[in-house]
Amino acid sequence: MKMEKKNIDWANLSFGYMPTDLRFVANYKDGKWDEGTLTGEATVQMSECAGVLQYSQSCFEGLKAYTTEDGRIVMFRPDLNGERMENSCKRLEMPVFPKEKFIKAVEAVVKANEAWVPPYGSGATLYIRPFMFASGPVIGVKPSDEYQMRIFCTPVGPYFKGGAKPITIRVCDFDRAAPNGTGHIKAGLNYAMSLHAIVDAHKAGFDENMYLDAVTRTKVEETGGANFIFVTKDGKVVTPKSNSILPSITRRSLMYVAKEVLGLEAEEREIDFEEVKDFAECGLCGTAAVISPVGKINDHGKEICFPSGMEKMGPVIQKLYDTLTGIQMGRITPPEGWIYEIK
Ligand SMILES: *Cc1c(COP(=O)(O)O)cnc(C)c1O
Repeated sequence: MKMEKKNIDWANLSFGYMPTDLRFVANYKDGKWDEGTLTGEATVQMSECAGVLQYSQSCFEGLKAYTTEDGRIVMFRPDLNGERMENSCKRLEMPVFPKEKFIKAVEAVVKANEAWVPPYGSGATLYIRPFMFASGPVIGVKPSDEYQMRIFCTPVGPYFKGGAKPITIRVCDFDRAAPNGTGHIKAGLNYAMSLHAIVDAHKAGFDENMYLDAVTRTKVEETGGANFIFVTKDGKVVTPKSNSILPSITRRSLMYVAKEVLGLEAEEREIDFEEVKDFAECGLCGTAAVISPVGKINDHGKEICFPSGMEKMGPVIQKLYDTLTGIQMGRITPPEGWIYEIK
C-alpha cells in the first residue's frame, strides 16, 4: 500500500526543522542500551544537571533519504554515518550505538515517516538527524552514566534555491580544531565554538570561513561544516589531508567518483594555502548541499578569484555534482553498497 504524501509545497521548503510523525529514541542506563522505540513525542525532558547541558557531551550525524526516479526510497551510504558515529562516541567517552542497529533505526524512522519523504524531482529531500547526548546528571567532571540516542527526520528544500551560485568565503583568524583535538569527529562542541566565527563572517559579508591548520596557519583545513575539494589547472581533483578535518562522506564519495567513474586523477594530500591561487575550481562538500561552488576567497583583503567565476560551477565540479546526485537519485548505477533501499 502506498502512503498518501503530506500536503506540503515541496519545491518551496526551506532548509529548516519541521517535526514529523515519529522519531526513534533509545536510552542507555546501567551499562546497556534498551531496545529503543518510535515515539510521537518531539520534546526531551531530563535532569537540569545532564552531562550534555553542563559539559556538552553530545555528537550527531546527518544523512538523507531520497525518492529515486523509479519511485523507490533510498539512503546514501548510511553504514558510513553509523561507523562515524561510533568513532565520535569513542572519542567523547559515550557508549557506542552499534552501526548495524544504527542503520536499522534510521530505516525504521524513514519508513514510519514515508509520507514526509519528498517526491522525485521536487528538489527536496528527507534530512535525517541521528544524535546522542549525556542525559544523566554530572557535576564533577566525568562522563555521564546515562545517555539518550534519538533519530528524527525533517523534509528540507533544495539547499540552494534556483541552483547553486558560487559563494565567497574568507580566510578565518579563529581556529576550528587543534591537532589531536576533536576536529575529526562530529561533536556538537565543534559547532558551538564556530558560531562566533560564522556570525562574524556574515557581518563582514562573507558566506563561510576557510579554516587553516591551527599550528602553522599555512595549510587548508575545511569550513565550519564542509570539506574542500579543488581542481588544479591540469584537471586533477585534490582535497586536503589532515587529522583535524571531519571525514566527510560526500567528499570521500566525490573523490571515488572522480577517480573510478570519471577517470580523473584524484589525490588527498596536504594543501598549502599558497597553492590555492593557482587552482581552477573550488567547492565545499557535505550532505546538505552536496557541493557548493566557491567563486572567491578573501584573505585579509587580498582576493583569490577562481577562473570559474561567480555565475556558475566550474566544469569539473559540475560533472562531479551531476554524477553524485545522479547516483543518489537512481539515474546512474551506483558503486557497490552505496545505495540502501528502504523496503
Ligand atoms: C558533517 C560535516 C561535514 C560534511 O560531512 P558529510 O558526511 O559529507 O555530510 C564536513 N565538515 C564538518 C565539520 C562536518 O561536521
